[in-house]
Amino acid sequence: MRRCRDRDRTQCGWLLLLIGGVATQLGCSELDPPDRGHGRPPDVILVMIDTLRTDHMSLFGYPKPTTPEIEEFAGVATDYRRAYAQSSWTAPSVASLLASRYPRELGEHKAPSKLHPDTRTLARVLGDHGYQTEAVFTNRYISTRYGHEIGYDRVQEHLSHGAMVTSQQVTDAALLAARESDRDRPLFLYAHYFDPHYDYVLQPGFELGPKAWGHPYDRNVVSFLAQTLRADLDEEAMRGSRRNYDSEIAYTDHHVGRLLSGLRALGRFEHAVVVVVADHGEEFLDHGEIGHAIALYNETVHVPLLIKRPGQTHGERHLEPVSLLDVAPTIVALAGLPREASHRGKSLDGSRAPSPVFTSTFYYSEDEIAVIAGRYKAIIDYRLGTFELFDLLVDPREQHSIADRKPRVAALLRARVESWNEGRFQLKRGHDVRLTDREKAIMRSLGYAE
Ligand SMILES: [Zn+2]
Repeated sequence: MRRCRDRDRTQCGWLLLLIGGVATQLGCSELDPPDRGHGRPPDVILVMIDTLRTDHMSLFGYPKPTTPEIEEFAGVATDYRRAYAQSSWTAPSVASLLASRYPRELGEHKAPSKLHPDTRTLARVLGDHGYQTEAVFTNRYISTRYGHEIGYDRVQEHLSHGAMVTSQQVTDAALLAARESDRDRPLFLYAHYFDPHYDYVLQPGFELGPKAWGHPYDRNVVSFLAQTLRADLDEEAMRGSRRNYDSEIAYTDHHVGRLLSGLRALGRFEHAVVVVVADHGEEFLDHGEIGHAIALYNETVHVPLLIKRPGQTHGERHLEPVSLLDVAPTIVALAGLPREASHRGKSLDGSRAPSPVFTSTFYYSEDEIAVIAGRYKAIIDYRLGTFELFDLLVDPREQHSIADRKPRVAALLRARVESWNEGRFQLKRGHDVRLTDREKAIMRSLGYAE
């Protein structure tokens, strides 16, 4: 893997060499081996931010200052600019990251499905190697209700829905776990932030602009059902949603910053592996839909991924496509532990050939699969019978399919998707969860249909 130090960015010039559809950086220097610090495996802090689309982060050039804290963190971390989630909604994406398996291998291909108790999650793998394991959950799909307690010594739950705001509790609970942990043993801490998810709440102090502009749709809380049932949804109305969404991102970023500062104060940051990642993004009519789970365009599957190695003191950027399947193997490698046989992904910390990234969504039926290979992305929608091909280098918003103009690339990537679909990654039967009427109502309010 070739990487680029912050101060070397000018020399690197962000050159993209496109060879065989693969983006590679030129002229970057290698990072020194990480400092192992305390003579024991490093702490591992995994910060998951629900529903965070990259192009609404100032880290990715968004004009509003939505993510100043994550930008500061990027100064000591490797920023994977082209990371793709394995699905466009929470349950399959997070399960896939934690187990480094495709969602369909975990029975996570339809909702609601409970994580199989035998799943080799990151908590279980690290726990087997002497880690203390702590989790803070806010999303119902990633909670004890859906089997996600496996491998954790302790779980703190602040399950969120509607206009409920939980980022402050997540940081407080995570810092409590860090403070109470045994300093002689490594700690794995999973903290799941939920606030950017529906409903979009304008957060006082984080408006990032005028508090009101007079449009009838200018509301402090935009709820999923109210919004989707509106027949007159227009661009001006969407501005209200995006304004509140941005405010939630900034509010969450503030509390993520508070967690990282708190860990620093506790002496559990510098020598730790710290990962900041999102499970999926969010759509605001970019392709005719609102929310996530439905499609696989970049607004819902291109996610932030930043990984700080133990002792890392400078920022780097990585420009090749990577998969969230690679997060757990990277953590295991950085912890100095043997490779986990069940992992489908590969460590990002060693030399590795770029490989295509597959993502799929199976919420409404088993219907959509995409592959990202270098500059190209292909999406097959089996429900609609459509095939699209995009050149992400010139059309990052995926507005113009070039399947007709690039028939050879289209045929190649169609074959890759079909062989992935029919190949080794067989569907595993999920373990259904019987929801109460109240739980069903909550899920509907969050945009998840029956
Ligand atoms: Zn999610």
